[in-house]
Amino acid sequence: MNNECIFCKIVHGDIPSYKVYEDENFTAFLDIRPWSPGHTLVIPKEHHTWVWDVPQSDKYFALARRIALSQRAAFGTDFVIAKIFGEEVPHAHIQVYPNEGTKGDKMAFEENAAKIRNALDSINATV
Ligand SMILES: [Zn+2]
Repeated sequence: MNNECIFCKIVHGDIPSYKVYEDENFTAFLDIRPWSPGHTLVIPKEHHTWVWDVPQSDKYFALARRIALSQRAAFGTDFVIAKIFGEEVPHAHIQVYPNEGTKGDKMAFEENAAKIRNALDSINATV
């Protein structure tokens, strides 16, 4: 853990987050400054600065895909965007979010997280 890192603090529960997914290696939670309803950050639990250095990249990107598929179902759009900047927070993260025109309240965090978690349950059964 990097003590200066806000995402490490989220992983360790020192900062609260609206979690949509968690396993032993990865976690996904809502961005608190969302660009659209359900805007999610997918991160490794281990501190890596760059996405390209994250171990088990196959599982990491497969998770980003499942989040995208869940957002499609949860928010009724095919148009889900993923971006990897590597800026702002120096802890690897993939941004996955429905396009900005998607209907819904992007600040309804509890509700949007629940929608993604529910959709993810059905996605996990089929993917
Ligand atoms: Zn970190």
